[in-house]
Parts: sequence; C-alpha cells; structure tokens
Amino acid sequence: MSHRAYVKTAAAEALCRTGADRLWRVPAPERALVLGYHRVVEDGTRAGSSVPAMTIRTSTLERQLDELGRCFRFVTLDELAAGLESGRTAGRPVVAVTFDDGYRDVYEHALPLLRRKGIPGAVFVVTDLVGTEGLLRHDRLYLLLSRAFAQPPAARSRLGHVLRGLGWRVPILEGGEDGPPGNAYGALRALLEAAPAAHLERLMDELVRVVGPFEPRPELQVLDWDMVRALHRAGFTVGSHTCTHVLLTREGPERVRIELAASRRRLEGELGSPIRHLAYPDGRFDEAVIGAAADAGYAFAYTTCQHRDRRRPLLTISRRLLWEDSCRAAGGGFSPSLLRCQVQGVFDVARRCRQEHESSPAARLEPLPA
Ligand SMILES: [Zn+2]
Ligand SMILES: [Zn+2]
Repeated sequence: MSHRAYVKTAAAEALCRTGADRLWRVPAPERALVLGYHRVVEDGTRAGSSVPAMTIRTSTLERQLDELGRCFRFVTLDELAAGLESGRTAGRPVVAVTFDDGYRDVYEHALPLLRRKGIPGAVFVVTDLVGTEGLLRHDRLYLLLSRAFAQPPAARSRLGHVLRGLGWRVPILEGGEDGPPGNAYGALRALLEAAPAAHLERLMDELVRVVGPFEPRPELQVLDWDMVRALHRAGFTVGSHTCTHVLLTREGPERVRIELAASRRRLEGELGSPIRHLAYPDGRFDEAVIGAAADAGYAFAYTTCQHRDRRRPLLTISRRLLWEDSCRAAGGGFSPSLLRCQVQGVFDVARRCRQEHESSPAARLEPLPA
C-alpha cells in the first residue's frame, strides 16, 4: 500500500474522529448526491482486463450503499433530478446510484443487489454497442496498451514510431530505452485526452499490427436490448452515454450532434418512453457540448467533476465516482471514513479537475480522411 494511501486513511480517520462524521456534510445547496459506478463484478473476480478504477465487487458496493443509507435516502435519478429542477430540497438528503457504459454485469450483479435492498438505479448506455459483441473503445485501447507495455522497451519503442508516423507526440508513449517511464493506464489517459475517436481507431489498427489481435473478452461485454428493457421495467432510469462513447469535447459539432440526438432517438424507440438524462463520456463537457445536449432534448446531464455551468446547472450535474479501492484503507479493508471524505470532496484539492471546460475549436480535430 502506498504512502499516499496511508496519508489519506489517516487524514480521513482523524477528520471523522473530530466530529465530521456526526453530520455528513452533504453537497450544498441541493442536499443531493449522484454516485457514478461502472462495472460490478462478483466477489473473487480479478479485474485484470479492466481499466483501473472502473470496477467494484458486489460486496464492496453493498458496504458503500449501507454506509450511505445511514444519512441519505435513495431515490431514482428522475426523482433526484426533479428535485433539482424544482429547487425543493427539504427533508433528508437524497442519493441516486448510476452506472456508466452499460456493462452487462450491471444487469447480472448490480440489479439483483439493488433489488434485494430496494434501492433504485440508473444506467447510461452506449447505444451503438448495445446487443453487439463490440467492446468499448477505452477497453479495447487499454487491452492493446497493456500488451504493448508488457513488451520490453525496445519493442515498445515501435509504438512511439507508429505514433510519430501518425503525426502524434505523446511523450508517455515515446518509449525506447531512454523514454519516460509509463504504464498502460497513463498512456490510455494521455491518448483519450489527445485525440478524437477516429484517430484512436486508426491508432488501434496500427497497434494490432504491433501486439497482435484482440482475444474475446466476455467479461467486458455490454448489455443487450432485452437487458436494457428489463432494467427499465425494474425501475432503472435509462439514459444516453452517446452512440459510440466519443469524448464530446474532442469531436467536431456535427459528430457531437449525431452522437447526442441519435442515441436519444434509439433509446426512445427501444423503450417507448422519453429519455431525458445524458452522462457525458468521461465527464467531458464544454460550453458547445452543453448547448448541443440542450438542442438534442436532454433535460439533465451528468459530469464526473465538481464544475458547474451556472447558466445551465441541470446540464452539468456533478457526480462522485466510486470504485473498489476508492474507499479502501491503507490496511486493506473498507473504510467508512474514506467514503465520507470522498463524498464530501475532502480530497478535491489534492485531485483537481484537469479538464478544459472552455470551448476550444482548436481542440476539435477533424476526422482523418478514410
Ligand atoms: Zn463512460
Ligand atoms: Zn471539471
């Protein structure tokens, strides 16, 4: 366990000892909290192929929810959003539980758990992937990069060569014996931040040539439409996470428009009910993206940081992302103190949002020619 984990655990426990746990400081002024999760796996599962910080075991999820239930009332995302819209915030603070990306394990593991506990949920799906064998772009890229980083530095430098061939400079991937040390996760973050989806697809075609083709990864599969409908019937709020999980701040206006409008239309057609909620992939938004979300007919959109647009607060609703190790004490066990600190944003200063929320046309590269 790292030095940082010890410091965090000690800080969290000290804070809670000094009385911070008597009142959970609920995010003001709304007294409403939205949690964001991704994959939910069975106990004993090794999360080897998953991007770090995207997986939680069912037993850990249950402990987090039990702890939160001591202070919050669990509500549907519809109810929480309606409260924000009307400005009515009386009574016990509320919490809604959301799952991004529409992994199949949300149906297999989260649904039974939430049902048993009487807790409502919400799922944000990537509509073009639903019912296909396809994997999410970040999972495909992470699998390829993990394989690339498992290679010796000399072999890995081919990666840098490939990138330079595409006209990219991503220092973490410059590789070679003298290159900066890196890892697959760091490279994934750098690449997702650097390029629009079309460039990443092109890069992956090249990577496959260097490290070999994909093997089937059933654990990373997403929902099919029967499962989405079953979740909806079970009371889940279903929202859009775009058609193909593009990071909207990296795409041109036409692609943004299609990703937002077509995913909403598809969901409404499949479920036969209005779709009002959107989760920005990777929480990425700027002014242009917020405008496009409004134009596409979304009433509520969710981020993954604490920045809000004061003019359109309902299209920049903050969420707290949680995962298996987000509340793990230095000793290894679940720490209620750490959960409280995460929810209250105690560590926000140390972990600043590095996103650019100003619209920047320069950041929006046009797709590569075919
Ligand atoms: Zn996502
Ligand atoms: Zn931010």
